[in-house]
Amino acid sequence: MKAPVRVAVTGAAGQIGYALLFRIAAGDMLGPDQPVILHLLEITPALPALQGVVMELNDCAFPLLAGVVATDDVNVAFKDVDYALLVGARPRGPGMERKDLLEANGAIFAPQGKALNDHAKRDVRVLVVGNPANTNSLIAQQNAPDLDPKCFTAMVRLDHNRALSQLAEKTGKHTTDIKKVTIWGNHSSTQYPDLHHAVVGGKPALSLVDQTWYEKDFIPTVQQRGAAIIKARGASSAASAASAAIDHMRTWALGTAEGDWVSMGIPSDGSYGIQPGVIYGYPVTVKNGKYEIVQGLEINDFSRARMDATDKELREERAGVEHLFAK
Ligand code: NDP
Repeated sequence: MKAPVRVAVTGAAGQIGYALLFRIAAGDMLGPDQPVILHLLEITPALPALQGVVMELNDCAFPLLAGVVATDDVNVAFKDVDYALLVGARPRGPGMERKDLLEANGAIFAPQGKALNDHAKRDVRVLVVGNPANTNSLIAQQNAPDLDPKCFTAMVRLDHNRALSQLAEKTGKHTTDIKKVTIWGNHSSTQYPDLHHAVVGGKPALSLVDQTWYEKDFIPTVQQRGAAIIKARGASSAASAASAAIDHMRTWALGTAEGDWVSMGIPSDGSYGIQPGVIYGYPVTVKNGKYEIVQGLEINDFSRARMDATDKELREERAGVEHLFAK
């Protein structure tokens, strides 16, 4: 058995937290030979609820759970952590302006970035789930000047999984038959789910479906899936979001399958014409714990326009939070 690693989860008493912690403790994220110590952060009023979650975690008697730290102090939560899943965020309330939302999240993610900078392991892997995830990740990154900027990522894996699921249903195949789907850009309705390089059972995906379905059905369904789930369930997706967070971290820790890639929100580096300065969804492969952008994909005019539109939205979000960056 390996030595335990420390995994921080913020918003740990929330809906996604409740669907996430038990699977991390069961070994779904880092493997059946990797013990974990969970570091759970909540705001002070949620600490009693968090205590209940801790009691349930203990009552599962998970063989891989080597300890639990429950706190409302960000410096305690991020002390020596190897992984950090930043789930807690300020949801947009009724009548809330975009500016207010960005400010409220700045107040959460700037101190969290600083605390990671001061206390986390130097190779910490940070995944931001709380929305607006890409820009919250950027705020945290920009407040952590001593950490490698590549430590900070955002979740587009749920969109990636939703794309696999839609395409599998349409083609009558299983999601495991599908490879090389990409989600470009922001985890928002401007994201671009790209099937131009995807293959289903070894055949090009776009040779199996018609262009009208791709443009008018598939893309909007993936983009608006979150809203459809709220309508059907009366609550936002939680288990699928938690599952995607597990997938994102497992891939980052254990690597991608040969001949396939996944989508991750990562710092743009100029690849595919997306200038540095935003956290952008890219196709990546992972080996030995390091992710790399898949290079050399052909981008047609249809894709270019959509990749630039989601980039534009991210630059606008960035402009609204730049005053929160550490000088
Ligand atoms: P959830 O656990 O349902 O959601 C948490 C965040 O994940 C939200 O920002 C939500 O965005 C986001 N999210 C990203 N992708 C998805 C998706 N596909 N489906 C649903 N949500 C998604 O929220 P709860 O309100 O149940 O729990 C939040 C918890 O966080 C609370 O317990 C609160 O106390 C805590 N919190 C903790 C903080 C901290 O630790 N410092 C700070 C702020 C809050 P969206 O709003 O767009 O759905």
